[in-house]
Amino acid sequence: MKITDLRATTVMMPLEAPLRHSNGAHWGRFVRTIVEVETDEGLIGYGEMGGGGESAELAFAGLKAYLLGHDPFQLEEMRFKICNPTASLYNNRTQLHAAIEFACLDIMGKKLGVPVHQLLGGKVRDRIDFASYLFYRLPNERTGAGEVRTIEQLLDNCRELKARHGFTVHKLKGGVYPPEYELACYRALADAFPQDRLRYDPNGALTVEEAIRFGQAIEGLNNDYYEDPTWGMNGMRRVREMVRIPTATNTVVINFEQLAANVRDPAIDVILLDTTFWGGIRPCVKAAGVCETFQLGVAVHSSGELGIQLATMLHMGAVVPNLSHAADAHYHHLTDDILVGGKLAYEDGAIRVPDGPGLGVEVDRDKLRQYAELYREHGGYPYDRDPSRPDWYALVPGGKWADPAQPGRP
Ligand SMILES: [Mg+2]
Repeated sequence: MKITDLRATTVMMPLEAPLRHSNGAHWGRFVRTIVEVETDEGLIGYGEMGGGGESAELAFAGLKAYLLGHDPFQLEEMRFKICNPTASLYNNRTQLHAAIEFACLDIMGKKLGVPVHQLLGGKVRDRIDFASYLFYRLPNERTGAGEVRTIEQLLDNCRELKARHGFTVHKLKGGVYPPEYELACYRALADAFPQDRLRYDPNGALTVEEAIRFGQAIEGLNNDYYEDPTWGMNGMRRVREMVRIPTATNTVVINFEQLAANVRDPAIDVILLDTTFWGGIRPCVKAAGVCETFQLGVAVHSSGELGIQLATMLHMGAVVPNLSHAADAHYHHLTDDILVGGKLAYEDGAIRVPDGPGLGVEVDRDKLRQYAELYREHGGYPYDRDPSRPDWYALVPGGKWADPAQPGRP
């Protein structure tokens, strides 16, 4: 089989409300690029990448010279064609490679009539548990609803998500308000949901000393792990020495070099594997094997997915025996998906692993057109700016916190 064409389409998917994080916000929408890889046998495989626009579409078009005529079953060959580790010093294509790898696995599964998880060794679970992924939110631009700022709003949002989707693990995305305020929020979640598990992730915004203070203050709670409280491997190692909660990251161990460094001189206990950051589903499975050997924890990271990427997370989670925690997903913040039948459903806080051929999800061509049109109307957004504070920009460590007494502007 040979690859005969490659198409990339950028889409925009509205969110229920803008999501705040330490570097700015998702401005009420996600921008994603959907990739279609076509073969001489008429099979089409789908991939997905974060961000988009002309530059992303051109970047994929630029790969045609490498991929036209390539056999989609030859994944290792493809890795070196696109992501040769020394050539990548000049040309880092990890995320592009990930999207193409998803599409090739989709094609392989469709050709053989088997789900991707079967190509990866077979699933060891049928459903993947997810965390609620709570964000501080600005009000929805159109309706003015959906703000999450006060402790009451946060608890209401958590109650609603728990009732609707069945979550029993809650992740609080922080790094927005002063640490003492976010600590009060986190404690309020622990009080309101004493049976549930918790995790906190301020995206590396705290100083090492703040991270130690915060961590020691929550040691007695039902914590899964302490995710990127401060920036950098050395900062995380200092926090780990002083706080009795497993550390986790999706920022400082996102490739094999960093994983090796972390094994030799541990800073991180739980590696959050992202099928995009690591360059595909297969590198994540390989990294999970290293973690299994060294008895590091593993969970599934979310980089703001639509249904295709979500499927890659489900297949990866299904085949990794040492998956030790619920996965993260932004997915429930989306208002729709580009899949036939709309969004995949949560049941009791989990999503069923697709068993159809390939990735096991079907793209709705009308929706793809509809949301590509929406992207053309609205364009992208600066992830590292806050729409409610036009002159603000993030420092690392943070410190220019938002004021929790100040209602956010949509
Ligand atoms: Mg994180």
